[in-house]
Amino acid sequence: MTSSAFSLEPESLGKTLGETVRGRLVGLIIRGEFAEGERLYPDQLAAKFGVSITPVREALMQLAAEGFIENIQRRGFHIRVPTADQIRNVWHVRQGLEICAGEQVIKRLENKGLEVEALERLDALQQAQLQNTQKMDHATKLELNGSFHATIIEFAENPILASFYRSLQHKVVGGLVQRGLDSWRTRVEMEGREHKAIVDALKAKDYPKYEKAVREHIQRSLNDALRDLAARP
Ligand SMILES: [Zn+2]
Repeated sequence: MTSSAFSLEPESLGKTLGETVRGRLVGLIIRGEFAEGERLYPDQLAAKFGVSITPVREALMQLAAEGFIENIQRRGFHIRVPTADQIRNVWHVRQGLEICAGEQVIKRLENKGLEVEALERLDALQQAQLQNTQKMDHATKLELNGSFHATIIEFAENPILASFYRSLQHKVVGGLVQRGLDSWRTRVEMEGREHKAIVDALKAKDYPKYEKAVREHIQRSLNDALRDLAARP
């Protein structure tokens, strides 16, 4: 599958070129294009993406600040598998942002800024994840799950929240930690039930139910990410 097939991520306003480049770099990481410890050359990536070296450096520095890439003096940027603490930190912030987003989505549904029918996009993304589970590759699964969650963020219509969320890169964790493992496949159906609980709570405009569903989903997902990390060879 080519990178152009991955256009599921909502294109939010205010995305900088650095963020776009980072998104494409993350796409390569989750498709397993780089080995653990592999060096990333900014000039090669700039040529690959057809951009100047500045946004590539910006994207690499950002991913390095988040700890997904190691920036070694005079030896450049290298791919790094995240630590358990890093995963916990990402999931903790992610949980907070997704709860905050849902609260705004429910408010928008209540005052008719958003129609309940719009939530059918979430059903469609969820259905796509449940179809062909056995044939689906890991990158597609990460993209579909990422799009499901990013769509809830998009529905909140809060550019500041969206910007923080985009910088989280939990898909990178999945891409690096679950590489070579098949454990994610056994969890697709359970994730489907959890996603349905999240969408049902939004449709019902039931904030306590939404918050509970998100907490359960993200906590379970964190536990599995840590289990995957421990299972890595
Ligand atoms: Zn999910």
